[in-house]
This record gives sequence, C-alpha cells and structure tokens, in this order.
Amino acid sequence: MVRLAVPVGLISVATPLQSDGQFGTGRVFRSAVLIVFGAVVLGTAMLASSGAGKALQPQPAAPASGRYAFHDAHFHLTNYIQEGITLRDFLTIMGDTVGRSTVFGIPLQQQWAYGNTGDFAPTYYLQTDAPLYYYSFTDASIAMAYKALTPAEQARFDPMITGFNPADMYAADHIRRVLKTFPGVFSGIGEFTIHKEFVSSKISGETASLLNPALDRVLDFAGEVGLVVILHNDVDMPFPRPGQDPYQVTQLRDLIRRHPRTTIIWAHMGLGRVVRPVKDQLAMMERGLSNPDLKHLYLDISWDEVAKYVVASPETIKATADLITRHPDRFLFGTDEVAPPDRGTYMKVYETYAPLFASLPPEVSQKLRTGNYERLFDEARRKVRAWERANVPSR
Ligand SMILES: [Zn+2]
Repeated sequence: MVRLAVPVGLISVATPLQSDGQFGTGRVFRSAVLIVFGAVVLGTAMLASSGAGKALQPQPAAPASGRYAFHDAHFHLTNYIQEGITLRDFLTIMGDTVGRSTVFGIPLQQQWAYGNTGDFAPTYYLQTDAPLYYYSFTDASIAMAYKALTPAEQARFDPMITGFNPADMYAADHIRRVLKTFPGVFSGIGEFTIHKEFVSSKISGETASLLNPALDRVLDFAGEVGLVVILHNDVDMPFPRPGQDPYQVTQLRDLIRRHPRTTIIWAHMGLGRVVRPVKDQLAMMERGLSNPDLKHLYLDISWDEVAKYVVASPETIKATADLITRHPDRFLFGTDEVAPPDRGTYMKVYETYAPLFASLPPEVSQKLRTGNYERLFDEARRKVRAWERANVPSR
C-alpha cells in the first residue's frame, strides 16, 4: 500500500491507495476501510402539477414498513441474456419478509458471437470476449410484467427504466417515451452504468463517460420528472497503479453537483468485485455526505461483493455502522440479486449484513432497511404520476 497525494474530489489530499497488486486474499481486505455515505434531505423539490390532465389509474398505497425485515432498493429480475424469474416468482420469494422492491432488468445484452465461443452460449459477460449492447426492450418487458399484476401486488414494486445508452444524446428521449407508453408504472431509472470493471470496455459503440452531456440530459430529465436515479460508477479502476489518480471520484462529485434537483443513489457505494475501497474511503464518504452541494446523494450497500468488505472485521463493521449512524437518512439496503432461483439464494446478502444491522441503533437500522426506501420512492411515485398527468394525453 502506498500513500500518495491526489487532488481527489469528494475528498481531500493525502489519499493512500491500496496497491498490493493482488486480490482474493484476506490481506487485501485487511485495510479495506469502509465506505458508506448517504445523504439527506431530499430537497423538497417541486412538483406538483397536479391539476392538469386526467387521472391515470390510481396507484394503491404501498405496504408500510412495520412488519417487514426490509425493502430491496436494488434488484434485477433478469440477467445479461434477458432471462430470469417472473414477478410472481419473486413475490413468493419475498413472502412476508420483504415488503417492497425496486425491479429492473439489465440494460445490457451479452451477444452470443459464434465466431468467439462457438456452440457455447454465454450467459455472463465474463464468459466471452464478445461485446455487450443496449437492449431497450427490457423496459417494455418489465412494464408488461408489472401491468399483469393485481393492484395490491403492483403496490409492492417500483419498476425502473434502464434500456438507454447513457452515451447517446437521445437517451433522455427514450426515457420520456417509456413513461408516455407505460404511464403509471415507473418510479425511476437505473441501475445503469458508467464506469464498471470489465463491463464498460465491452459495450459496443462510444464508451460511456461522466463527462458526456448525454448523461447530463438524462439526469436533468430525471430531476424534472422526479425519477429516482440508481447509478453504478466504480470509485476507481480495477487494478490502479500506485499513485494513480482515481479521477472518477472527482468527475462523479462534479456530475452530482450539477444536478441538485435529482435524487441519485450511488450503487454499491462505488465498490466492485475487484474495485476495492480507496483507502480513506470512509473519510471521503464522510466529506461527501457533509457537503451541502451533495445533499441529494444517497448510497446503497447492495451486492455480496460489497458486503464482504463491510463485514470483513469488527473494525470495518464498526466504522461503517458509525458512518451510517452519523448520516442515517442517506443509506439504503439492497440485495443486487439477479434473478434469484430461490429464497435461500435471495436472502444471503441480507444475512451477511446481520452484524452490521446489529451494530446500528434500532431506528437507524430501520431507516437503512425500510424507512429511507419508503421516503425516496413514495416521493418518486407522487412526482412521476403528477408529471404523467400533466404530460401524457389521456387515452
Ligand atoms: Zn446491480
């Protein structure tokens, strides 16, 4: 591990990065300082155009938190080849344990390139060198699955739009089109990805970037409508050389600052399978959460790959719990499960986090597991439905 001076964004100056050049060993995680951050006050944003237009189908009240262990702020119904489980399967898995859940597919389709893998049909991006491409039909597929449910069942889900290319200046127009085609369905956009280890470089066409004005158009539109944004952006590159500038952090901070009206959840707190916590990440998160320009930034702790860092030791658990406790309104629990085959598989991430939940004051734990989800997504539902009443001609 090396210390170096980096003029990083959310952060400060001397940022020691890990650079032992290996991973998969306990040693790597030893110094994994945790992360976490969150956010707070949602601006009260505006809203309201209630008057106009006519009522779309009424949305039943969502189930309240009291009786559930958690709501899932990060869930994929389908995988990288657009296969998965049905929403009814998922309701069975949720049972009486999980109250509500976001629901989205994956906007990227892994191409089966015969010249690359022959008869082997890849189902995951790590199984082939063939590219990924944006698969917009995922939004129609998710919407139709949702519309097939009863109103009481629908009330438990917050579908998200993902099938757009964030490097395309027309991406925001796709989102608008989906809302107009399927009014009464969606609460947000994402999870979509800008920088992701092993994925971003495989996508056909122009590489996505935090600097691309196409992304600004997307976030502007999300803010205008009231759509919650779930954004995946690794905090660093997979295997940084010693001294390498984690430039993504600065770019991400500036991006979020440019869109104060938009509620943005930073997926996985920026971590990945091999993208490890930037040392001092805890301090970085603290600074980000305390920055009044970033009060619309939230964090989800989803993914078993993230849980492994958080529960690595009593020290990492305590450091994370302390940070969440200082910013109780800004963290959300999610599983990041992808088309789980059964309840046991689905519950693993929640169970892994048991030591973290146990380390939090009860009211903080409740906000992390259910309260913050309800506040953000209830607000999104109200705003998006109001936008639809004002902008979608009645049929
Ligand atoms: Zn995910």
